[in-house]
Amino acid sequence: MGMNDTPSADRVHIGFFGKRNAGKSSVLNAVTGQDLAVVSDVRGTTTDPVSKAMELLPLGPVVMIDTPGIDDEGELGALRVKKSYQTLNKTDVAVLVVDAAAGPGPEDLELFGRIRQKQIPVVVAYNKADTLKSAANQPGGSGGESAANQPGGSVPEPTLEPAEQKAPVPGLSAPQPWGGSQPWDATQPLYISARTGQGIAELKERLAQLGKPQENSRRIVADLLEPMDLAVLVVPIDSAAPKGRLILPQQQTIRDVLEASAVAVVVKDTELKETLSGLGKKPKLVITDSQAFARVSRETPEDVLLTSFSILFARYKGNLAAAAAGARAVEQVGDGDPVLICEGCTHHRQCEDIGTVKLPRWIREYTGAEPEFVFTSGTAFPDDLSPYRLVVHCGACMLNEREMKYRLKCAQDQGVPMTNYGILIAYMQGILQRSVQAFPDIAALVGPDARRG
Ligand code: SF4
Repeated sequence: MGMNDTPSADRVHIGFFGKRNAGKSSVLNAVTGQDLAVVSDVRGTTTDPVSKAMELLPLGPVVMIDTPGIDDEGELGALRVKKSYQTLNKTDVAVLVVDAAAGPGPEDLELFGRIRQKQIPVVVAYNKADTLKSAANQPGGSGGESAANQPGGSVPEPTLEPAEQKAPVPGLSAPQPWGGSQPWDATQPLYISARTGQGIAELKERLAQLGKPQENSRRIVADLLEPMDLAVLVVPIDSAAPKGRLILPQQQTIRDVLEASAVAVVVKDTELKETLSGLGKKPKLVITDSQAFARVSRETPEDVLLTSFSILFARYKGNLAAAAAGARAVEQVGDGDPVLICEGCTHHRQCEDIGTVKLPRWIREYTGAEPEFVFTSGTAFPDDLSPYRLVVHCGACMLNEREMKYRLKCAQDQGVPMTNYGILIAYMQGILQRSVQAFPDIAALVGPDARRG
């Protein structure tokens, strides 16, 4: 993905699920007009789902995800099935592909149950409808192109009776109160054929309806600014900074400042003091990289609002309150206590050694203890968080909102405090209260800054 594209985290994630022989890869390829296995961004190992960011009309920017079969067997197969289920955590719209001739099996029903439990809008697509008798008459298949119109010619000879003919399969019918208003009967399955193209246009229509992003009223920073306000962004350029560009959260923040018709001044931490004294106008806000917090806090006058990119993005993703409250749990961390540090990605890392080196060192220094640090990265996120005294997550710039909410919910359900890098750093430096002054409800929650002697 290039720098000018919609960030992956802000794209609608569409996951294709199903048994190994259901033809989900072919359905996905028919929907996108591309061979995903060949063009995928992320190839990974054979146990990994395959994903690709693309434009899907009429929906717009999406990430399409092909997943391993949910009926895979053996030790490796079980791992693949687990990965498919994990993919649900970031799936905004699910397509459950069922072999129309064979009908749904227990694995389909189980997965469908999980999809509903997670309130993910879903389309059940009965593939290989061209192999059924009277394929054109299948319920739900009316919106597709006629098989006779497909390149290559005539309607194929029907060979098999469908397992379930006219009625929706009871276990797989889905009234979707959470899926928005769709113009079709959501309890009706959709009969398609990846081979002939039957029903593919209607499948795309349904995906567009279900995937329509909910209006996100949250802003990164624009709601804090009036036109012509000055926002100073502090961006250290050290060896950890990527060469030749700003990282995504910095780019997005600048964009949001401009949308408010305010003025963005971008400086390195080493130039902040002189910049502030030479501005000629008091800035409304100083936004810093968390690693430069201590210095920036010292050099920013008390009457200027100070915050960090981490705090702004936690708010943008809807988890600032929980992360701010979770930071205090570092007070309880002692010798041998397990602390889980999670990085949201493994590729193109923008966080370098913060998670694995600096943060553990700062936690040790702050607590005076020797906790046991456990690290995860990418999609790996343990189901069982109960052993951990504290979970510290990265800023999650590469994770979508659904995935981040899922992770937070896991922690909340298991009563384990979870915070993020930037918020914990602010807390340990005794400036969290100051950094959330712009958000009075959060400031009330955080309480006064306290620093251990
Ligand atoms: S904040 Fe998380 S997701 Fe973003 S680059 Fe760093 S480790 Fe990756």
